[in-house]
Amino acid sequence: MNTIKKDIRALTKEQLRDFFESQGDKAFRGNQVYEWLWQKGAHTFEAMTNISKETRQMLEANFVINHIRVDTMQRSNDGTIKNAVRLHDGLIVESVLIPTASRTTACVSSQVGCSLDCRFCATARLKRMRNLNPDEIYDQVVAIDSESKLYHNRPLSNIVFMGMGEPLMNYNNVLKAIDKITSPEGLGMSPKRIVVSTSGVPKMIKKMADDNVRFKLAVSLHSAIDEVRTSIMPFNETFPLADLREALEYWYAKTKNTITYEYVVWEGINDQRKDVDALVQFCKFAPSKVNLIEYNPIDDGEFQQAKSEAIDMYQKVLEANNITVTIRRSRGKDIDAACGQLANKS
Ligand code: SF4
Repeated sequence: MNTIKKDIRALTKEQLRDFFESQGDKAFRGNQVYEWLWQKGAHTFEAMTNISKETRQMLEANFVINHIRVDTMQRSNDGTIKNAVRLHDGLIVESVLIPTASRTTACVSSQVGCSLDCRFCATARLKRMRNLNPDEIYDQVVAIDSESKLYHNRPLSNIVFMGMGEPLMNYNNVLKAIDKITSPEGLGMSPKRIVVSTSGVPKMIKKMADDNVRFKLAVSLHSAIDEVRTSIMPFNETFPLADLREALEYWYAKTKNTITYEYVVWEGINDQRKDVDALVQFCKFAPSKVNLIEYNPIDDGEFQQAKSEAIDMYQKVLEANNITVTIRRSRGKDIDAACGQLANKS
């Protein structure tokens, strides 16, 4: 009879220790295997050379090690790298390495496809198939860290959850992956270098505040006027701006962390003075930073980057209201790796 073997990486260290004890072995063996799985990145039981052959065979009989595989890797002229990552069940997600002079950032996916339907986003055209497991998120980071060392001679410095999917709709797994990324038994990265970017799920933002998370929060806002935001991000009807704002006030009261807003200015959609005034009003309750992101059209449709005069107006008005502004140029456009372009096209 065929039994489905469990993915050994779904077990915590304690569960692995218990497993070995239940087999009449020492709990310590669990620590050794855990180290092979997470610190040494073993892809097979065979590779665990300080574990006896009998034990490795016993593990082989009971478990599998589900690893991601980088199916294709594309390199952009500007140094950006995009990975199409094949999961153990054949599904594919994408992750991106963005190098700049001062940092190398991994943009990772949290879901296969996305259930939200932001109209400017290529990922939205892919049906949401499933959430990623913690190890699948972790593996994307490890793969990008290796590529960063190989092609840019430096390790990864930052991570943003801004790839495919809405991370707060896969909250528990994202949290477990971040635990692993920040743990000395994993990659040992500082949580301050990790940003979880959400389209704004109010009750999950409050939960993050209650959970005392130490990573940073960014909100893809794109409009502070309900009518406009609903027209480009239809879930805004379910989670309107007033609810989002209340959740962010709660977050700020608990964490005292500056809130970052991701914001694209599109021609004819949100490029008027009333749009920037509404944004100023929305931001007022807490220290805020607005990233104005250059847009990469996903087709010839209605979403086109606004004229530079509109961006200048945003910058001037925001700065006059003591709101920090950065203008983020897009990277990796030639390989469809820029923001909003991830759609498994490679
Ligand atoms: S922008 Fe983010 S939340 Fe919206 S559809 Fe795309 S992947 Fe999903």
